[in-house]
Amino acid sequence: MNIIFGPINSRRFGSSLGIDLSPALKQCNFDCLYCELAPSATVDKQSDTIDIQTIINELKEHLNENIDVITLTANGEPTLYPYLEDLILEIDKIKDKTETLILTNSASLVDKKVFNVLLKLDQVKLSLDAISPNIFKKIDRPHRSIVVEDVVQKVKDFSKVYKGKLFIEILFVHELNDTKEEIKKLNAVLLDINTSRIDLGTIDRPPAYPVMGISYKELHEASLLFDKSLPIHIASRTHAEANNSAYTKEEILNTLDKRPLTLDDINLLFDEESKKLLSELIKDGEIAKKPLGNLEFFVPKSNLERKRKK
Ligand code: SF4
Repeated sequence: MNIIFGPINSRRFGSSLGIDLSPALKQCNFDCLYCELAPSATVDKQSDTIDIQTIINELKEHLNENIDVITLTANGEPTLYPYLEDLILEIDKIKDKTETLILTNSASLVDKKVFNVLLKLDQVKLSLDAISPNIFKKIDRPHRSIVVEDVVQKVKDFSKVYKGKLFIEILFVHELNDTKEEIKKLNAVLLDINTSRIDLGTIDRPPAYPVMGISYKELHEASLLFDKSLPIHIASRTHAEANNSAYTKEEILNTLDKRPLTLDDINLLFDEESKKLLSELIKDGEIAKKPLGNLEFFVPKSNLERKRKK
């Protein structure tokens, strides 16, 4: 059984060694339209489980000092693994400086036990695709026991007490959660969540159902609809086409003021002349680099100073 996979070099999380907590079959409380696994009926608990010692034995064989994070994931939802708490305790004994991370769809946070277990991890990535119940149901196709309002409340509560690095991910599906109205609702909720970074993504791999993602340009436009204070990052760029747009210095400052960008974003959005102007602005000290949860963003100095004064 392939329980351990990687290491994978992830831009967002560094060198990641994955643990698949459901290696034999898909076991998930969602059946997302965009899932890269085949469609399957939702479950609220695992029926097929692996024992902790098997995981730890395999982990020990692969773990080394070059790994940044041990990522708990699954063919499905990793929080459905029934021995999660004990597994984390065992990993903590051997991980040394490597951090632990879980990628979850957030729904199990309504279970107090899971909520408390996730507090023990160094990093947590919570997905939140929609706020409106009808859109949430359409995209994530959750188990009948899951109520989006409860999940949203628990995501907010979790963010207030969690001490590690918290990431939120929103995956946009064309004509479902990419409307101005839904983004407005997501924005309002995000303003009440303490997070290190919010990753905006879209469909990068063949989805379970016939749905489409949105373009990089649309993702960038969507990112501008969120409040300036939110640490938004455009995470999907697999099918991104270079925009090659021309910007003046003033436009560069305005664009980065609205939404700080990474070097990858700049390479996609800016033409060569605009990149030269950006270099000049950096040299003149008008633009600085700001780290945000493993990534580096370009931000106008005036923007940083404004935030410092707040
Ligand atoms: S939560 Fe993840 S594994 Fe489950 S259906 Fe959605 S994308 Fe697939």
